[in-house]
Amino acid sequence: MGKPCGETCRKKCPEKISEERQSVVHRTYWTMTYMEKWTFIFTMVSQRAIKRHTAPVPSRRGESLVYHLTDDLGRPQDICKAFFLTTLGYHPKNDRLKWEEHKGRAEAGRHHYRADAERKEADLTIRSVDLQKVIMLPRMPGVKTAVFTKRISAFHETFATARKKSATKKKSISVIWHEGIAGRKAEEVASAYITALWKERNITRVICWLDNCTAQNKNWCLLTTLVSVVNDPTQAVKEVTLKYFEPGHTFMSADSFQHGVELEMKRQSGGAVLDFEDFRNVVASSNSGKVEVVEL
Ligand SMILES: [Zn+2]
Repeated sequence: MGKPCGETCRKKCPEKISEERQSVVHRTYWTMTYMEKWTFIFTMVSQRAIKRHTAPVPSRRGESLVYHLTDDLGRPQDICKAFFLTTLGYHPKNDRLKWEEHKGRAEAGRHHYRADAERKEADLTIRSVDLQKVIMLPRMPGVKTAVFTKRISAFHETFATARKKSATKKKSISVIWHEGIAGRKAEEVASAYITALWKERNITRVICWLDNCTAQNKNWCLLTTLVSVVNDPTQAVKEVTLKYFEPGHTFMSADSFQHGVELEMKRQSGGAVLDFEDFRNVVASSNSGKVEVVEL
């Protein structure tokens, strides 16, 4: 444990939390799993709700956070950041805590995703959803200057099944389109969801796992589209849940599905995918054909 904040501290932390109590908190903290540590920090650190006239927008910097530890009697005490961090065993000047929290959240996300993949309810579909990076057609590796035809961009939104058990495993759904039909703005991505949802008309509940790309996955267009689908009496689906991975820690079935599409493109003669029809066939034969390809 590091040195506590000392007698000059305005919050008088050592008077609130005894050294014995500090050791207990410290020892307990280091027996915790990442998820438990994260929960502990989440519970003990909160954002201060004061309005400062100098800052119209609430600051999210460290200064605006309030730190607590419970004393010998279990009462939460308001303490300073340095005391909080040194009690847990972190250096108050480094960012390890932030990193721990991030890592804890990433672990919690993976755990939650794996648990979802084991679910067996028949009226529930669980998919990981991702937009593949743009594919330029014709795609002819090694041929850079000889092709004078105008190239078009093809898009592919993957709705990969997240389930592992063969009894509940479904085919993945690939929604594809090209720039002649639409671009890759929020509207098109939202349309891709509608198209994919139509493929499972008997399903009442949907869980989509997404990465944290704000433009694609966290926009009002997508959210309002999904709200209108859920409220449409002609649609079976009554519940859509979006779940997001911690940034930089995305690990989902859509990634491996898209890797399968990349491999299938390389497997073509000369790695050539000449037009949209070719691309459609490549996606359809990728991943051992366990996919339903549908055009937007
Ligand atoms: Zn202090």
